[in-house]
Amino acid sequence: MVASADVRQVIVDMVGPDHVSPLFYKRAKDFRYGPSGVLATPMLCLRDAPQYTSARWDPDIDECFYTVVGYDQPEDVERYIRAAHSGWLPEPAAGTWVNSIWDPSQAPEGRHSATGWFFFPMASYYSAQEWEDIRVSYMERFLARWGEFAPNANHDNVVAMKLYTPDQMERKNLMWEGDCLLGDMAPDQMGPNRPWPEAADYRLEIPNLYLCGPSAYPGGGVHAAPGYNAYKVIAEDLALASPVTERGLLTCLMCTPPRWYDAVKEAINARLATLKEVPQDEFTIAVEIVGDGRDTVRRRGRRTPFPDPPRSGPVHLVPHLEEDDPSVKLNYRFTGPGTEFDEIAAGLADPIDAALSGTIKVRGDMRFLMRQAQMVQVLLEAYANDVDTTWPQGRPPYEEAG
Ligand SMILES: Cc1cc2nc3c(=O)[nH]c(=O)nc-3n(C[C@H](O)[C@H](O)[C@H](O)COP(=O)(O)OP(=O)(O)OC[C@H]3O[C@@H](n4cnc5c(N)ncnc54)[C@H](O)[C@@H]3O)c2cc1C
Repeated sequence: MVASADVRQVIVDMVGPDHVSPLFYKRAKDFRYGPSGVLATPMLCLRDAPQYTSARWDPDIDECFYTVVGYDQPEDVERYIRAAHSGWLPEPAAGTWVNSIWDPSQAPEGRHSATGWFFFPMASYYSAQEWEDIRVSYMERFLARWGEFAPNANHDNVVAMKLYTPDQMERKNLMWEGDCLLGDMAPDQMGPNRPWPEAADYRLEIPNLYLCGPSAYPGGGVHAAPGYNAYKVIAEDLALASPVTERGLLTCLMCTPPRWYDAVKEAINARLATLKEVPQDEFTIAVEIVGDGRDTVRRRGRRTPFPDPPRSGPVHLVPHLEEDDPSVKLNYRFTGPGTEFDEIAAGLADPIDAALSGTIKVRGDMRFLMRQAQMVQVLLEAYANDVDTTWPQGRPPYEEAG
């Protein structure tokens, strides 16, 4: 059984004191929620996207995916966070997204939808009636602040707006105190201490009971890392295939001979042809393997040269790209040292860990990747099953790393 509910609920409310050790039960009771991950979320339906005064100097500001409004200097951020963590409503300031600029399907034609977040006091700091009042008054105050920077962010431009507050998140989402990270990010609840040292390996003392949600390391976020890590532990316990030993996505492509490269591309495109909902777009992905002096095929600092293969399907891999080549519009660019790619190809390193730790940089629109989850799965399967991905020269020379 794998639980993504918060760990205190799982151990205290569901398992109970009779089935775990007294220490484990005490740790669960003492686990704290908020204030570090407590948010309120504004939602706005707008006639026009905000037009910032500063766009006069830099027009791109009106097209930003994420715009932080209301802090002029670092001290403002500090004051804001101190207030929120101490239970005071901070002076309005927020991170904002006008999603419809990037995804017009999120608003009727010619209109816009925006969202954002405020770090906020914990749910228990205010009564139900006080939260009700905050939902009305805080948005008015934020709009006034927003209008100082984007004059059209005013009442005439707002069709409707709403604030989703921590008390609502607690009630509706079972996020205690409105803590979207399901556990305070304090040193004693982070890293190897999350949720607590004896539960940090996702095992919850009872055989076959695992924790996979944001209460587990590394904490909340749509990166899905707690679930991925939990699966690795479950796979170990139940002798299932582990993603660590599965081969990576597209990472080996560029350090292999052209005929192998063609085989992978053919396999991927053949698999895509069997999908019912094949994405209609063409996907352009660059894999940049930078020689680091240790890897098997490249010299230090050299990017892998590779002949540009002909386009023959929805997935197109760009083998080598100048940094700012405006003629190529990329969905993704993976950049990393040759050794890391070698180790992934040999099953010695985990591609997801490499991306999460930043060893391999992934640049691209994560929303795109999430929307295309099915395609990503197809790519992985084709890579792992349809092609002989045996490392052409045997295992890399630094096998001791495994
Ligand atoms: C306003 C807000 C903004 C956020 N912004 C970001 C962001 O920009 N980037 C980012 O990476 N992360 C962000 N997060 C955090 C991220 O959304 C979460 O960490 C992530 O969704 C956790 O995913 P999960 O599937 O592990 O758990 P959850 O999505 O929390 O799913 C747990 C589920 O279990 C259910 N549940 C709980 N208890 C029970 C029970 N007893 N019985 C049955 N069901 C139960 C809950 O209702 C919920 O549906 C944000 C969260 C919020 C609330």
